[in-house]
Amino acid sequence: MMNRFELLNLLQDTIQDELVVCNIGLPSQELYKINDRPNYFYMLGSMGLASSIGLGLSLAVDKNVISIDGDGSVLMNMNTLATIGNRAPSNYTLLIVDNGSYGSTGDQKTFTNERTSLKDVAIGAGCPNVIECSGEETNENLQKAIDDKNNSYVIISKIKSGNVPIKPIPLNAVTIRDRFRKEIGLVTYL
Ligand SMILES: [Mg+2]
Repeated sequence: MMNRFELLNLLQDTIQDELVVCNIGLPSQELYKINDRPNYFYMLGSMGLASSIGLGLSLAVDKNVISIDGDGSVLMNMNTLATIGNRAPSNYTLLIVDNGSYGSTGDQKTFTNERTSLKDVAIGAGCPNVIECSGEETNENLQKAIDDKNNSYVIISKIKSGNVPIKPIPLNAVTIRDRFRKEIGLVTYL
């Protein structure tokens, strides 16, 4: 099984100009280290809300939007799956990196290690296209979700826990926001 850093690295083969909203903490820091791009929005606050921010964005723009979220994050904002199940447009993909742990706070185990299946929760919440796969299968499923212009997707990528040594992102929140708005086609007047 691969870890999150390895998975995020692999995803660079598939992600092109899609708008990406990435989960707070180590996921964003790892993504920044692997391949910083202006179409990557590194969430610096709002724990648990990457999926909701991405959903709102996808409802407002035509471009494909991918939220890269975590199991711990979705578990603390589980109602997001019901909103996505009922309202997500076809340009939205929620990619849940499920490593069975709260990685950013020290790798405490989450309940996806025990009896909770985010796949079953997402299906029960009404999400129409739910795929659970291994890290190795994630790129092909993400590509399928991007290519499908008629459906939204929830992909749950099962990987192992573990973090790599990493520094904080040196960009400030205003810089991250402004360059991301440029990618969307919005101009910030400040
Ligand atoms: Mg996790």
